[in-house]
Amino acid sequence: MQVGYSAEDEAFRLTLREWFESHYPRFKASWPGTPDPNELGWRRAWEDYVCQAGWSGLGWPAQYGGKAWPLTRQAIFHEEQARIGAPLGVNIIGHGILGPTLVHFASEAQKARFLPGILSNREIWCQGYSEPGAGSDLAALATRAERRGDHYVLNGHKVWTSFAHIADWCFVLARTDASAQRHKGISFFLVDMKSPGVRVEPIRQITGEADFNEVFFEDVQVPLDALVGEENGGWRLAMAAASFERGTYFIPRQVRFAQEVQALKALAADTPRPGGGSALQADPHLRRGIARLAADSHVLKLKGLRALTNALRSGPPGAEGSSTKLQWSESHQKMMNIATELLGERALAGPEPGGRDPRAALWTRDYLWTRAETILAGTSEVQRNILAEQMLGLPKN
Ligand SMILES: Cc1cc2nc3c(=O)[nH]c(=O)nc-3n(C[C@H](O)[C@H](O)[C@H](O)COP(=O)(O)OP(=O)(O)OC[C@H]3O[C@@H](n4cnc5c(N)ncnc54)[C@H](O)[C@@H]3O)c2cc1C
Repeated sequence: MQVGYSAEDEAFRLTLREWFESHYPRFKASWPGTPDPNELGWRRAWEDYVCQAGWSGLGWPAQYGGKAWPLTRQAIFHEEQARIGAPLGVNIIGHGILGPTLVHFASEAQKARFLPGILSNREIWCQGYSEPGAGSDLAALATRAERRGDHYVLNGHKVWTSFAHIADWCFVLARTDASAQRHKGISFFLVDMKSPGVRVEPIRQITGEADFNEVFFEDVQVPLDALVGEENGGWRLAMAAASFERGTYFIPRQVRFAQEVQALKALAADTPRPGGGSALQADPHLRRGIARLAADSHVLKLKGLRALTNALRSGPPGAEGSSTKLQWSESHQKMMNIATELLGERALAGPEPGGRDPRAALWTRDYLWTRAETILAGTSEVQRNILAEQMLGLPKN
């Protein structure tokens, strides 16, 4: 059994590594001020740079401006980008979810209109799915789109919409047939965030940032050609979009996880104990915790490779994606718990960067942020349901 990439893919990796190593440090050095891995302006600027260098649409067909790389090469790209320490972009929803969905389901006119804006990063996208009464149970959504002559009229309230405050466009799930069965009366629309009647209210998070928002649609006129696929056929697109999201979502996160295990070890080595020596030397319980995280990191890497192999053989990942999501999000919380215990009262200074203790602030910010990770993209309970029903064959409740 071969665990890892082919020799050709490893040679390809070296070309990418060379590119990142020659461009990223220069880009970072030219940034006015201190680059903050979570700051949206910095994240956008790097993403623009990467796209302008032509590194986007990695898996899209060449006829739509893509590179048509197989998943393995896309994975290597994301690994190398994370390895150099570059931040995640702000248009990840456009590149990773909407782009592939349009390639598969949109009309040629829609592809010609929207794909170039994603490729160049000129247009930022957000995803309008969740509502106050529809999260895990997405098919309960109540936003309505009524057809009136040459347009639809959209009314509803979305919540937790990441990046809506900086987005140019939003893809929205809305009910177009209230009398149909829940999953059958839903359609998929592309909505201009500048349309009259769209209102965005940022939600302040526990980290102090406001990365996501409430979005209100009040009599928003949406042209007929903003409908992707068939009217009432939106659920199929939403499910396909979710499978595109799972394709390479965890790759940079797994690389980052491995880097964080090393950073945690360094934090433990730098944290003095009252009796002398460092926490790492003096505390076997702590060493066991870090060793477990190192094992988790390795397992996540192997799961990533298995998902790639399965995807190459038989299409997008199924229930095993839930196992990766669950393990990553819960181990990440354990990691941040250990970091916070190590920091002790230093963690009380809060997550704001630029304070007296920026190293502690970053850990504290990540500790707070990881609370969201067991909720976003499907909660832990929902992932456990999927594993129980689809992998273990347990009965549905
Ligand atoms: C950081 C972040 C970013 C997000 N970005 C977006 C975005 O860009 N666009 C978007 O549309 N949404 C986004 N979301 C929303 C996310 O998809 C929802 O929060 C998620 O689907 C859970 O829905 P909910 O919050 O309504 O919780 P609910 O579904 O109401 O769940 C509440 C609790 O009940 C449990 N529960 C629910 N159903 C079951 C069940 N069948 N069995 C067992 N337990 C159950 C859940 O696990 C949870 O503990 C984001 C969320 C976060 C945290």
